[in-house]
Amino acid sequence: MGHRRARSGSHLIATTAFVAVIALAALAVLAYSAVTVSSNAVQGEAKREVAASAQASAVAVNDELGGLSELVQSYARRPQLVAEVGDGRSGSIARAGLHADLDELRRTRSNIALAFVSNDAGVLLDILPETPSILGKDFSYRDWYRGVTATNAPYVSSVYRTAATGHPLVVAAAAPIFAPGTSSRVGILVVAYRLDTLQDYVDHFSGAQGVSITVTDQTGVEVATPGSSVRTTSSLRRDPQIAAALRGRSVVSVRHASTGATIAASVPIHPLGWTLLAEVPRRSVLGRVNGLRKTVTLVAILLALIVGAGVLLMLRAVRRQARADRELRESRDELRAGEERLALARDAAEHANQAKSEFLSRMSHELRTPLNAILGFSQLLEHDALDDDQRESVALIRRAGRHLLELINEVLDISRIEAGRLSVSIEPVNLADVVTEAIELVRPIAADRGIEVPARAPEGCDRFVRADRHRLRQILVNLLANAVKYNRDHGRVDIGCEEADGRVRVSITDTGGGISAENQTRLFRPFERLGADETDIEGTGLGLAVTSRLIDALGGTIGVDSEVGTGSTFWIELPNDEAPIAALNREPGRAEIPITDGAARTVLYVEDNPANIMLVRRLLDRRPHITLRTAKLGAEGIAAATDSPPDLVLLDLNLPDLSGELVLQRLRADPRTRAIPVIVVSADATPTQIERLRALGAADYVTKPFDIGALLAAIDRAASTYDGALVP
Ligand code: ADP
Repeated sequence: MGHRRARSGSHLIATTAFVAVIALAALAVLAYSAVTVSSNAVQGEAKREVAASAQASAVAVNDELGGLSELVQSYARRPQLVAEVGDGRSGSIARAGLHADLDELRRTRSNIALAFVSNDAGVLLDILPETPSILGKDFSYRDWYRGVTATNAPYVSSVYRTAATGHPLVVAAAAPIFAPGTSSRVGILVVAYRLDTLQDYVDHFSGAQGVSITVTDQTGVEVATPGSSVRTTSSLRRDPQIAAALRGRSVVSVRHASTGATIAASVPIHPLGWTLLAEVPRRSVLGRVNGLRKTVTLVAILLALIVGAGVLLMLRAVRRQARADRELRESRDELRAGEERLALARDAAEHANQAKSEFLSRMSHELRTPLNAILGFSQLLEHDALDDDQRESVALIRRAGRHLLELINEVLDISRIEAGRLSVSIEPVNLADVVTEAIELVRPIAADRGIEVPARAPEGCDRFVRADRHRLRQILVNLLANAVKYNRDHGRVDIGCEEADGRVRVSITDTGGGISAENQTRLFRPFERLGADETDIEGTGLGLAVTSRLIDALGGTIGVDSEVGTGSTFWIELPNDEAPIAALNREPGRAEIPITDGAARTVLYVEDNPANIMLVRRLLDRRPHITLRTAKLGAEGIAAATDSPPDLVLLDLNLPDLSGELVLQRLRADPRTRAIPVIVVSADATPTQIERLRALGAADYVTKPFDIGALLAAIDRAASTYDGALVP
């Protein structure tokens, strides 16, 4: 899940980045095309404007020179001038009149440099201003001459440097002079037009229009160029735009020069055959779109910033999400690691505990074996012929040995309880039986010191409590033994039983020295002897510690009331319980349990609790063909089963000497008893326990407190299937 989320996070990042790139690209394309389209529109507009201004300039130039040409033509047609030229030979010229006409013509315009007349062969007849050195010379090589003679019409020449005074660059406007009434030429009237004046004219014109204007003649030679006057006769024929105009075509283009790109329009100037090129720098044209370009760029940048900010925010959110995911994953991992560590620690602790318990049981076994030898041989020694000193020594050895044995048993008990390995079998226990048994056990030591103990359990004890019979007896023996041990000689011990609020209290009162209030608080601590270790009274300081833990395990309570100098009362409380027989009597449908008959059978019941024995005995009243035998100890049961094999064994697991499990194993191991079915009866009904006992060979498992029907059914089942013939 965490991985999927992380993957979807990076997927989101990739998608966001992709969308952002697309958006930015679209924006760039939009901005670029907006600027380009508007630039193109402006440039197209500029081209049209430049073309128009070229056209207008061309008309103006044509007007200027065409006007000149017409002026010359009108003079050439003047009868007076025609008469003055005569037939063009020097003898027929009326020089004075011609001179006056030329002068008049020259004065009509300030930009006329020369006015002159040649005859039809190109020989100069007259010129103003006067230049006698060239009069009579042949100028038939001049363009104006060739132009007029070729077309027999007025002609404007290409640029040339005149031979007249000052040698300025000029173009000539020439017109034929015809003999009166004919079309036969007698001469040619020419005016030379100074190019610098044309230049001024063009400069003036282009300045007004904001364009640079270049004019060429019909050979492509510059006649006017922006900014400076023409000094050379270099040809611009190579310029493709001028070449196109020379061929009569108008061309508009964008030209790239070292000073920057220009928008240029070239047009032919009809009918001169000249060309005109108008140019504006493209930068100045596009200046008009600069505002738009700036606005578009600004908007595009703003949009890009917004998109970028959006993407950044998104990325940050995604990254935060990813970090949160990672942290979640990490803490989950940590948790899991912690759980694993905990499990390991628990396993280790359990292992250690098990090892400790195992060690303790091994140790106690190992210690008990040599102790048995010590105790046994010292007992034997006592019967030998010993002197008094030796006898005393042997008695000391025995006492020390017994003490050690007690110590080992009690340490083992405590460690078992603390390791949680104490197995208790909680069932209804007849208190009077157990109290009486405990009294029997302490009676000898009481008698030794003349201490009076009750003969048996008092009447109040005749009731049932919920307890483990074996452990309850251990508790009572401990308390009674202390009441005797810490009593004064010839003192007495009293026992009382009473019931209150569903609990039964057993009190054991002695007439000993009593226990101070301060000592009472330390009473139940292990190895706490409260000064008794300085007396002759034997003890380990473990008895009450074991007792209080046992009573805890039984769900009971323990306490003491004592007065120094008077004596002490130790008491325990246990939950009240109902007698099993009473339960049997109350069992619904008990009357319906039929009395059945069958082949004679023997059942051996190994059980230390008389109440349970009585119950089963009553139950088997309903099965007259079954004979019940009982054994109170495990060893006793094994012996009974081996000596005279029964048809069925009912086995209690919680026996005073051997564990029921061990008894079962022994019965399975012995060929004489191997085939006898064994029904285990126990208060411990955990599935693992049942499983284990079945694996060991138990035929059935009945839990306490008994379900009468189930118990009887199990007995019937096992008793009917067992075939005694299996026993060898
Ligand atoms: P042990 O008897 O082996 O010393 P216990 O745990 O049974 O150990 O008792 C702890 C101590 O409590 C005893 O050493 C003794 O001093 C004191 N004690 C126990 N029972 C009595 C009693 N009935 N009267 C006076 N003192 C007692």
